[in-house]
Amino acid sequence: MNILMAASECVPFVKVGGLADVVGALPKYLKKAGHDIRIILPKYQSIDGKKYNLQTLPYKLQTQVGKDTESFRLKYCLLQDNIRVYFIENMRFFNRSGVYGTDGIDYSDNKERFIFFQKAILESVKALMFRPDIIHCHDWQLGLIPAYLRTNLKNDGFFWNTSSVFTIHNIAYQGQFGSDTVKIAGFSWEDFTSDKLEYYNTVNFMKCGIKLSDAVSTVSPTYAKEIKEFNGMGMESVLNLRQDDIYGILNGIDYDYWNPATDKNIKANYSKDNIQGKAICKADLQKLCGFEIKKDVYLLGCVSRLDEQKGFDIIIDAFYKLNNADIQFVVLGSGNSEIKRKLQEAVKKMPKKVAAFFDYNESLAHKIYAGCDAYMMPSKFEPCGLSQMIALAYGTAPIVNRTGGLSDTITYYNHFTKHGNGFMFNITYGENFVQTILKSEKIFKDKKNWNVLIQNAFKSNFSWDKSSVEYEKMYNITVLNKQNENIFTHS
Ligand code: ADP
Repeated sequence: MNILMAASECVPFVKVGGLADVVGALPKYLKKAGHDIRIILPKYQSIDGKKYNLQTLPYKLQTQVGKDTESFRLKYCLLQDNIRVYFIENMRFFNRSGVYGTDGIDYSDNKERFIFFQKAILESVKALMFRPDIIHCHDWQLGLIPAYLRTNLKNDGFFWNTSSVFTIHNIAYQGQFGSDTVKIAGFSWEDFTSDKLEYYNTVNFMKCGIKLSDAVSTVSPTYAKEIKEFNGMGMESVLNLRQDDIYGILNGIDYDYWNPATDKNIKANYSKDNIQGKAICKADLQKLCGFEIKKDVYLLGCVSRLDEQKGFDIIIDAFYKLNNADIQFVVLGSGNSEIKRKLQEAVKKMPKKVAAFFDYNESLAHKIYAGCDAYMMPSKFEPCGLSQMIALAYGTAPIVNRTGGLSDTITYYNHFTKHGNGFMFNITYGENFVQTILKSEKIFKDKKNWNVLIQNAFKSNFSWDKSSVEYEKMYNITVLNKQNENIFTHS
């Protein structure tokens, strides 16, 4: 099968959140399964052409964004396993320091940037003579490709056999813009109807992706259910109309990359069979944070976008409430400036108990996953969440709110049955994060139970082997449906 993975982020080139991990990992498994899988991304300024040995392909391409003709070049490199990765290079839209914006504020021309990107993708596959069976579109930034295939390109022979699959990584970000988008994106007003582009007199890229793709997926079974029922941020009815075509496929993590036995970022390597190095990592992290270096103190960490979604109000509240407990806290995050200010305030008041780092720092992230005893993830909602899975891989117990993918991956540790890989509370039922931390601390102090819990964490396995097969099944069904559809429309 020819598959084009179209996204705005991909590890190792550019990462803002978990989307990048998924787009970087899934193709490797699809390639192993024998598919011709290629990735296409914007060429952001931060992607180092020399480091990745990017080659410029000989095409001079252009597309229309509103009244402007935008020229672009295609760059190219080979990722591990010989996966071809293309980059769309355009100075106006992508030669700037941020991905979606700076200092937590979106660029004002994101609409034009991602209209351009999507139109450029559709031009590029033609130039490359790569006829995809599937264009796998990720999140709102790619929500218009399904719309182009169903409208402007529906009679374009090149794309007759091309289906689109749309994956929702986070329905809270929808890309909703004024009705002038119809013209800027080059659609016809005839298609500005509620069964196609129109959404409350706007164009909402997320809605277009859900409504007009051939199949929709999201990143965990529980989130797939939740967004149809109550967590769909206004998209519930749009999703319910596609009830039968929505797949909930749990993300995996790359266990070659997130591996404490080989990780070069951490002070000492360790594994489930020899966990001694974890204590060295803890001491190293305590030193980095300026904390007392003591192995019996309960050390909790968090690596995250600074965003309300992630429950920072609850986390910061816990710092103050647990100020007298024998607990240390460390946060690494970037994003919302108000959350940053509150974290700084807490650090100032409790420097021996709370540490916070405010950049995007891959190496420090690894040190936190390895050095902490437990990992805080009290997200208000969580489509899948990779951080809790990474924590598990490092033998660090997640403490999570029962929502979305966190429900699908974490089970409460029961010290009678010895089952469970972390701790859970339920905000909706008024359950309390602070109490859950204190309960988990009790287990931490009971070394026998804690060691069982840590072993359970190590044993939890969320590899892509299983999830990639689910994606393949979805692709196969989609391609078959397309063939049937074509029998009626093009014969
Ligand atoms: P989301 O996609 O909502 O941001 P996930 O838990 O799915 O949340 O994925 C977050 C990913 O981004 C994890 O791999 C996490 O380690 C990483 N990450 C988030 N913030 C930072 C940061 N400031 N520095 C390094 N890595 C980060």
